[in-house]
Amino acid sequence: MNLRSFAAAAALAVGSAATAAPVLAPPPELGADVQPFVHVPAGQVAITHLRIIDGTGAAALEDRTLLIDGPKIGAILPSGAAVPAGYRVLDGAGETALPGLVGMHNHLFYLQRPNIDAAGHSEQPVIIPQMTFSAPRLYLANGVTTMRTTGSVETYTDLALKREIDAGHLVGPHLDVTGPYLEGPGAFFIQNHQITSPDDARKEVAFWADQGVNDFKAYMNITRAQLKAAIDEAHKRHLKVTGHLCSVTYPEAIALGIDDLEHGFFVNTQLDPGKQPDKCSDGVGTPTLLAMKPGSAEANALIKLLVDHHVALTSTLPVFEQSVPLHAPLQARQMDVLTPQAKESYLYLRNITAGRAGTPRGEQSAQAYKNDLGLERQFVAAGGLLLAGPDPTGNGGVIPGFGDQRELELLVEAGFSPVEAIRIGTLNGATYLGLQDRIGSIASGKNADLFIVKGNPAANIADVENVIVVFKDGVGYDSAKLLKSVKGRFGQY
Ligand SMILES: [Zn+2]
Repeated sequence: MNLRSFAAAAALAVGSAATAAPVLAPPPELGADVQPFVHVPAGQVAITHLRIIDGTGAAALEDRTLLIDGPKIGAILPSGAAVPAGYRVLDGAGETALPGLVGMHNHLFYLQRPNIDAAGHSEQPVIIPQMTFSAPRLYLANGVTTMRTTGSVETYTDLALKREIDAGHLVGPHLDVTGPYLEGPGAFFIQNHQITSPDDARKEVAFWADQGVNDFKAYMNITRAQLKAAIDEAHKRHLKVTGHLCSVTYPEAIALGIDDLEHGFFVNTQLDPGKQPDKCSDGVGTPTLLAMKPGSAEANALIKLLVDHHVALTSTLPVFEQSVPLHAPLQARQMDVLTPQAKESYLYLRNITAGRAGTPRGEQSAQAYKNDLGLERQFVAAGGLLLAGPDPTGNGGVIPGFGDQRELELLVEAGFSPVEAIRIGTLNGATYLGLQDRIGSIASGKNADLFIVKGNPAANIADVENVIVVFKDGVGYDSAKLLKSVKGRFGQY
């Protein structure tokens, strides 16, 4: 063991068991595995002639000078202002700065489906491999500077990854580590512990809170009593709970005190026919969404309940876009990062969905998707806190980082303005995490977590794809270099 790896091992061994905030002070120095990706070292940097979308939903500021002072944003100077002495000057003409994305339904794993047959079934057991090497690079390369893991399958690995990134040994975004999925009997992947009682739920939350996770996510087969015990234990420790639910309906979860609900309105089962208490319904929420037209009495009542109880909602449009037949295919830049096996599996599943075009099932998926877009807009108009994340699972067609950008594009398709969509993907997430004073917008004194793209996303949201450099704690990372380092690797590890 050489000295460097020995030091890293020692750092891991003494890693704090207490919960570490998602965004910590930057490490004093960056290690040898991080340095090759640094494009702009930390220091006094002035980017001139830059357009700035500040993340608050305000109109873009044109032709400004952005000052970065070490890990912090120094100031935004008006056009034509002289750059103070001592700053390294970079020309930002034709470019736009946005706050670093705060990905609120992101994962550090990727679903593999062994031997899928023509009906889309795969052999048991379903196992979910970690992408601890490739996913953090993909997120950072695409502008994500903070992300919630939103359910973990290897929680110790995610906690260790966070410590290594925070220590400057590995490259990646700030991590908000979610505990293992809180799930009852019927978990669909084999790594998932199945909770047996409310007391078991409480113990699981207490254990992982002691290990340092930042929050929890309940899953599709948890019972109301188990969820209540989990929420109470988490809240006792000032940690939040979100849920991708099915067995528990949205109104039930709101009454139990949940903080956030995943997947917009896609997985609410309150109107599903045959829904039994504490059991996931066959429709897993689709019948409810089809019945709940935006502006209907049921929709109005549910949205009032959510807003009155300050329950956030996480929009994950990219993963549901995949269920709409003939949706946009993965771009070449995304196919490039997949392993050959992952490419083949994605194309196979995409073809199955394409075959549903014009069938009742295909029409249902399209209608459900449309209803959700209207409901998400209605929720925001009513004052609800909408968060954004891609959910890189499903049929394999949602890729870390690229999917975060796609979420912004789909929010604009849903009817939000580009600057509103960017706020949902930045400041709203920071606000939910309680970090709005440090990250989520571009303002003097905040952390220099932001990214620079070519073009103008305020006019053309797809310009968020043209990432040049991503600043995290004032260090500018080279997007192209990060992507190149994982070419053909996503799906491997
Ligand atoms: Zn998910």
